[in-house]
Amino acid sequence: MSQGLLQLRKKGQPPRADGAAKAAFLPTTREEMQARGWDQLDILIVSGDAYVDHPAFGPVLIARFLEGRGYKVGFIAQPDWTGPADIGRMGAPRLFVGISAGNLDSMLNKLTAQKKTRDKDQYSPGGATNMRPNRATIVYANLCRQAFPGTPVVLGGIEASLRRIAHYDYWSDQVRRSMLLDAKADLLVFGMGERPAWEIARRLDAGEPVSALSDIRGTAHVKKNRKEWEPLLADASRFTTDGKLLVLPSYEEVTASKEAFARMSRAFQYETNPHNGRPMLQAHGDQAVFFNRPAEPLTEQEMDGLYDLPFQRKAHPRYDAPIPAFETVKHSIVTMRGCFGGCTFCSITEHEGRIIQSRSEASVLREVRALSRMDDFRGTITDLGGPTANMYKMTCKDEKTENACRRLSCVHPGICENLVTDHDPLVDLMRKVRSAEGVKKVYIASGVRYDLAERSPTFIRELAQHHTGGQLSVAPEHSSDKVLDKMKKPAIRSYERFAQAFCQASEEAGKEQYLIPYFITGHPGSTLGDTVELALYLKENRMRPRQVQDFIPTPMAVATTMYYTGIDPLSMEPVYTATDLREKRMMKALIFYWDEQHWPLAREALRQAGRRDLIGRGPNCLVPDEHGAPMPRTGFGAPRGRVPQGPRKPGGPPRRNGR
Ligand code: SF4
Repeated sequence: MSQGLLQLRKKGQPPRADGAAKAAFLPTTREEMQARGWDQLDILIVSGDAYVDHPAFGPVLIARFLEGRGYKVGFIAQPDWTGPADIGRMGAPRLFVGISAGNLDSMLNKLTAQKKTRDKDQYSPGGATNMRPNRATIVYANLCRQAFPGTPVVLGGIEASLRRIAHYDYWSDQVRRSMLLDAKADLLVFGMGERPAWEIARRLDAGEPVSALSDIRGTAHVKKNRKEWEPLLADASRFTTDGKLLVLPSYEEVTASKEAFARMSRAFQYETNPHNGRPMLQAHGDQAVFFNRPAEPLTEQEMDGLYDLPFQRKAHPRYDAPIPAFETVKHSIVTMRGCFGGCTFCSITEHEGRIIQSRSEASVLREVRALSRMDDFRGTITDLGGPTANMYKMTCKDEKTENACRRLSCVHPGICENLVTDHDPLVDLMRKVRSAEGVKKVYIASGVRYDLAERSPTFIRELAQHHTGGQLSVAPEHSSDKVLDKMKKPAIRSYERFAQAFCQASEEAGKEQYLIPYFITGHPGSTLGDTVELALYLKENRMRPRQVQDFIPTPMAVATTMYYTGIDPLSMEPVYTATDLREKRMMKALIFYWDEQHWPLAREALRQAGRRDLIGRGPNCLVPDEHGAPMPRTGFGAPRGRVPQGPRKPGGPPRRNGR
């Protein structure tokens, strides 16, 4: 039994899950099944996260959705992975077992950019670590095959979705095969899973064998030998837009050649629009993985239906300790999913899709009422947003244009003229939610896309006046146009204009408020010299960022391809990337130029960048030399009005997504 599980069991888990409290949750044991009069489940969902009955937890959302379609669904959270007994405790489900590593990739959840073990797992009770195995999807799939021989195994969740093609794994520094092959599962659901999961359930229920489910959108399956997939190639057209099937470079090709890996990454990116994305095939030796077209996005009515499901909005009563990620989101409301930003370091577009799927105002207000009835709700909604704060109900000007579009971003290199950037629906929603009965305060903690916000002085005014708890997180990420272009982020001037407008709106509202800017160091395209320029920009603007992210190459992101191959897949031109962990640490140290503990590394960085002139006591220096007295605080960071910022206040609104 794993160490984390042992620790929990020693605390007496499950200690206080009385029958009535448990009955409102999905069954997690055979006794709970029997209490409902069930002998067998239809579907079992296994998750690497703790069981929190809340729509922000992806595997739970799918489980509740399937339950809502009339299936008997059971849920197993963080099973013991040392043998099949725990995962098999409710018996084999009639239709299939669905597996997810949880809300995060299990390796990202465990390890930092410096490849060190994190001291907390945000998705486990008490933040306990070692509650899930590395590459949890593969481990759980192996256990399920042992526990339920012959039962279809379906992978889903972000880990499987973003490892569906051959991919670079930062933590092992290897190109790995599609996770579907390593897990030996029957199907892999990619992207948002409601439609595919429902179709799988319906067709299995109708008596089709799982081997016949080879045409469901949003799923991938394995073609087991060349006889199965080679005839398909007659139909395929490599890297053109008019072929019926896109054949990606094979696993063997992308392992042998970085140029082939970059071509694979580029080709894949252009197939993510559900309206014109083609099916794809990637050979791995004699086998091949076949990817159907992405699933259609949900309609507003379907989105509303999800949030009307009977979530308890609580952690399962078996847990003694709070689950940190739940504490962050339990009083927040998701208004939409998807992102059309296409930032290269982020995979939200690849997973959730770039078409914004919004809930209706009525649905959001229903959730506000449900929240206000909760015992521990004191009137504060900690976030009203989604992957981005201000894309609610934004869409392409017409369906035909959107369906034909093959751009990777609606906002880069500039805001597309066809994008409707109207903030009025969002502003109306903000007004209605803050006026709802029982609500005292509504924060916007999701990341604000400032190039869009600039277009709506009303949104900025309302944000500053009513929805900021003294501090607002925004993510300019860098100051260099060259680096920002590699990130597909707007130029720093856009951030400055937004900062000025926000500052002015705060003053008009009679509030002293600060922006909390987030930056990324070590992103592909960024040299030590670029990072020195960023540090100088911060100093000139009296900014002392506390939030600096060392770039993590996560599976399938475009920036990860840049990191691994040294090629920008979108232009196929070479790109500089810091891969040495010490160089990455030096970059981070430069941004903390004002913090004494980072000075030794910052000095090393400046010397290496040929900028010794910035070490010393002069007004233009970034850090003092080794023998100098400590730097005076004055002149090195007192916030000034133009771009205000400051430290995060304890107890301030949590940041769910600042990018
Ligand atoms: S045409 Fe423009 S707004 Fe429409 S989907 Fe394409 S990039 Fe986005």
